[in-house]
Amino acid sequence: MAKQWIDRADVVLRADGQRVADLDTSSTPGFDGGKREGKELLAERAQVLSVLQEKLFAHGRTGGQRSVLLILQGMDTAGKGGIVRHVIGSVDPQGVDHASFGVPTDEEKQHDFLWRIRKRLPAHGQIGVFDRSQYEDVLVVRVHDLVPQAEWEQRYDQINAFEKQAADAGTVIVKVAMFVSLDEQKNRLRQRLERPDKYWKFSPADITERAYWPEYQKAYQAVLDRTNTDYAPWYVLPSDHKWYARLAVTELLIGALSTLKLDWPPANFDIAEQLRRLDES
Ligand code: ADP
Repeated sequence: MAKQWIDRADVVLRADGQRVADLDTSSTPGFDGGKREGKELLAERAQVLSVLQEKLFAHGRTGGQRSVLLILQGMDTAGKGGIVRHVIGSVDPQGVDHASFGVPTDEEKQHDFLWRIRKRLPAHGQIGVFDRSQYEDVLVVRVHDLVPQAEWEQRYDQINAFEKQAADAGTVIVKVAMFVSLDEQKNRLRQRLERPDKYWKFSPADITERAYWPEYQKAYQAVLDRTNTDYAPWYVLPSDHKWYARLAVTELLIGALSTLKLDWPPANFDIAEQLRRLDES
């Protein structure tokens, strides 16, 4: 049997009291195995996740109103894309609604910052995945003074109220902040410059942003301090090891889906009668 978690992922990764500047990004909290064991366990747990996701989907199809929202935040190269491919990729795509949020379009700029986010909240029975999110509006926006402080200061409370509303409507929210060390980020950016299959991921601005790391750390700290709520908790993910980050998010999603205690919807027809009809057909 593959090595198991020694502590629950949702407990060891919960952001309560976490100082971003003190995080050991190469650590693997809750799991004392290495890469091989981690990958073995991931293969096993992906199947558990897949069954839970199918139950959620079936629940939505039969009138259920629950959904799950995974919010992924992280600096460039932190591995958000890998989570989407390797974790979310292991479940049925028809039950997943993936949304990525880049620089706001002209149309989006006409509205308040939550307008484009609200439109992409997952429907009943779906796992929504936000690749970047409303938090860009207190991260990149704060670091680069894109709106006055008086405006972004209010956004933490606005985000909390927005998430409370979504949670009350039946969405289980899981927020994951992914962190790699500056050195690891440099390695990953170097790879993007050395491998033709990765050029497309590179943007010169990624190097410029590295100089703002202290400001980003401060902005992430404010996010964790001000928006880590019971109805929408933050998890802090050391992400230097990609296999660990993928395993941890799989565990967090399994935990979130398990809280829904979903079972297969019962048959809404007479099974014996339908078997008889089938035999006769
Ligand atoms: P990624 O880097 O995630 O692969 P993109 O290349 O599309 O995706 O980059 C998205 C960019 O959009 C990031 O630099 C991010 O900071 C920026 N962005 C996202 N939301 C906002 C926002 N509300 N205001 C300004 N910039 C934003």
